[in-house]
Amino acid sequence: MIRGTTKVCGVWGWPVTHSASPAMHNAAFEALGLDFVYVPFAVSPENLKQAIAGVRALGLVGVNVTVPLKERVPEFLDTLTERAVRLGAVNTLFWEDDKLCGDSTDGAGFLAALPIALAPGMTAVVLGAGGSARAVVDALVQSGVRVFVANRTAQRAEELVTRFGAAGALPLEEAPLREALQDASLLVNTTSIGMSPNHAERPPVPEDALHPGLFVTDLIYNPAQTRLLARAKQCGCGTQNGIEMLVQQGAISFTRWTGQEAPLNIMRTGVKQFLGKTDTIIEAL
Ligand code: NDP
Repeated sequence: MIRGTTKVCGVWGWPVTHSASPAMHNAAFEALGLDFVYVPFAVSPENLKQAIAGVRALGLVGVNVTVPLKERVPEFLDTLTERAVRLGAVNTLFWEDDKLCGDSTDGAGFLAALPIALAPGMTAVVLGAGGSARAVVDALVQSGVRVFVANRTAQRAEELVTRFGAAGALPLEEAPLREALQDASLLVNTTSIGMSPNHAERPPVPEDALHPGLFVTDLIYNPAQTRLLARAKQCGCGTQNGIEMLVQQGAISFTRWTGQEAPLNIMRTGVKQFLGKTDTIIEAL
């Protein structure tokens, strides 16, 4: 029940209607009996400054920020965590005393979700050079992994390589990917290729490059199995979709805001129930 004492959190995006975070966080608040509520807000880039003023004026206790606002938020905050400074992006707003702070939990969420051990010197290929790629590349490089970044827009891949000290940039094309994947043990798709409603699309990863020693993780969580993951599974690769990363990055925000350990299983169920409903809507359309 929402009362005068209820603490308000939320997610900002433009658009925000597809977000699974309200279902995930509200399920967790309810399970722990916390007097919190999590609300989606459609915030356009033009209104971001006023929205930040709104956090201060309305006393919101925490906010998640998603596309296309992550890189635009830092300039309006009082302080940033070290990793948010490194990334130049923020996905979580929280209060430290009277200071409005920004953190980026995507990289830590990605690492916490990954079911394989990372060892220094291991090779990974990351597809994409957008916002989520920044967090993934940074997290992998910080773990000692040699990272190659393949992107449609070459300049963005090169920028990531320089900024985070990755091993090299590649075109997002079959031949260079085939060569790079020979020695790789991890392939991460951070592009939106294959994301609903474009289920039929697949990044240009050649089938003969998908060897059983390669673990393939796709940040996309809708659909739960992209064509890339389906193909990788057929070729004997271990696979993982983006649900666990979504849950793990959300768990870090949850703990920051509430001071409580996040109920991971409840959050997983909240996301899956939401996505089940979304899939049904997409089928109906
Ligand atoms: P961005 O818009 O920042 O980046 C998109 C990336 O995809 C860019 O590298 C872009 O290439 C590439 N891309 C898009 N369309 C095409 C195409 N048709 N052909 C080739 N390349 C393409 O998005 P994000 O990084 O924020 O998000 C990417 C995906 O990751 C989304 O599906 C999102 O849902 C998912 N995600 C999942 C998270 C999780 O917790 N599981 C967290 C964050 C994101 P170019 O640079 O050339 O434009």
